[in-house]
Amino acid sequence: MKISCPNPSCDQTLSGPKSLMGHRTACHACGHSFIWSDRFHTGESFVIYDLETTGLSPDADEFIQIAAVRFQAGCVCPEDNFFSFARPRQHISSFITGFTGISNEDVRHALRPEEVLCQFGRWAGASTLIAHNGLRFDSKFLTATCKRHQLPAREVECIDSIHISKMLYGSTRGTGHSLDHLKSRLRLRDTALRRHDARGDVDLLGRAVEEMSSRLELDNAFNGVRRHTSLLPDG
Ligand SMILES: [Zn+2]
Repeated sequence: MKISCPNPSCDQTLSGPKSLMGHRTACHACGHSFIWSDRFHTGESFVIYDLETTGLSPDADEFIQIAAVRFQAGCVCPEDNFFSFARPRQHISSFITGFTGISNEDVRHALRPEEVLCQFGRWAGASTLIAHNGLRFDSKFLTATCKRHQLPAREVECIDSIHISKMLYGSTRGTGHSLDHLKSRLRLRDTALRRHDARGDVDLLGRAVEEMSSRLELDNAFNGVRRHTSLLPDG
């Protein structure tokens, strides 16, 4: 594949195999060091978020809690955050209450998931979303909620932080990439909040992303990290 050197003051065309994607390399003309990617992004505003849900199926289950924090210029902006419970149509099982700490009582006066998602979409604005295991889980809940309620929607770019972990630790079978694996490998201090409450998981993930992006020397636009898209309500 052929790409243009991402250094704005260099017009070199570079060619390399697809297997270079996600790996650090240097332009042979200008020496600029970068992570090989088919696209280069300039936006530096991200949103790290996490959902708690009534179960694992994006089509049958609903989210019951969302927490998010802005991430800009390589750092978490703790004061710029979003949090809400959401009131699902189905009963929250005792298993889910045990796992997340979220009870039916907690969500009794909350807005419906699709209403919360509209608020979240306005707050997130044009930021790119980051969630841990987002490709397989969180992004699917966002998209399914928009479709089920036929919300006018827009496509948003998303990063699954598991891909950042794989860039750092490799994707050899048996290498775990859960938030708990990251926490112990990166020696992150425990969150003061409850784990598996979206706020606690976002706090931990924010610090994990900061640390991984600094170890990988990623730029502030996370260039070189795979992206996917999901839907968010528009307006
Ligand atoms: Zn160059």
